[in-house]
Amino acid sequence: MRVHRLLGCAALLAALGMAFAGFARAENGPQAMVAQGDTYTLKLALGEPAAASAQAGTVQFIGSATVLIRYQGLTILTDPNFLHKGDAVRLGYGLSALRQTNPAIEFDQLPPIDLVILSHMHEDHFDELVQERLNRNTPIISTREASESLKRLGFQQRFALSDWDRLEVSKGETRLRITAVPGRHGAAGVSVLLPTVMGSVLDFGANADTPDYRVYISGDTLVYDGIRSIGQRFPGIDLALLHLGGARILDMFKVTMDGKDGVQMMQIVKPRKTIPIHYNDYDVFASPLAEFAREAKATGLEESVVYLSQGDTYTFTPRKP
Ligand SMILES: [Zn+2]
Repeated sequence: MRVHRLLGCAALLAALGMAFAGFARAENGPQAMVAQGDTYTLKLALGEPAAASAQAGTVQFIGSATVLIRYQGLTILTDPNFLHKGDAVRLGYGLSALRQTNPAIEFDQLPPIDLVILSHMHEDHFDELVQERLNRNTPIISTREASESLKRLGFQQRFALSDWDRLEVSKGETRLRITAVPGRHGAAGVSVLLPTVMGSVLDFGANADTPDYRVYISGDTLVYDGIRSIGQRFPGIDLALLHLGGARILDMFKVTMDGKDGVQMMQIVKPRKTIPIHYNDYDVFASPLAEFAREAKATGLEESVVYLSQGDTYTFTPRKP
């Protein structure tokens, strides 16, 4: 393990040196003003009709960044990770992380899934078990980079989105728009060596511009300039799922939000409710959930936080039926 860490350290630092000049140029370049993305469509087979009382939706926390969102007959799975306590995931450059928890349910216990939203291709978000066992026809919405990996793995229905691209999903009468929004896995210099990250905004309802319910999923990101544009373009976020953990690689580089960042994120995107996820699950997570809870309390935001233990379900009601 120690040898691995040293090799990983050397590989990463070498890559960092090479990347630094390029990133510095890119950071100083002109910013796109109001970029508009492309629009794609996904029509899902109706399958079993939604339950009659399906006006409410649910968010079930499975563990790490894995969540099941159900709304009016749609079942969405995020960042599937079904490995167990003690299992290792590879993070590139010879680096790995050990899982500290078990998922609330096993992969085989999942209900039928309509689509997967994958924030990025790291094994703690799309692990070996999932790579092997997930149905090859499951639609997967992710970054262009991850979609290339998914193609190599044989997944047939890939939707590769760049920032502000949209996917219009329909299933019977149910409508959902997924918009890819900015995310950056670490400080600018480090992030160029890590996978591209897709945040996502889910607008449920017949008119996505005036959604019945709006969900923001951060993905593994830090708080940086790109995050402000999410709050500006998507006011009135009903629920934010924030990837916390303050994950560090080589004990040096922070690559996901810690407790303080999570609260700063809330202050920027202003969700009505926030559910913290992606915490306490891996040995590279340096910021326990308690740190976020302390910060939320200190800033008077704790009333808007919903804490789910693994397996817990949050039920939400749309703004209008
Ligand atoms: Zn990651």
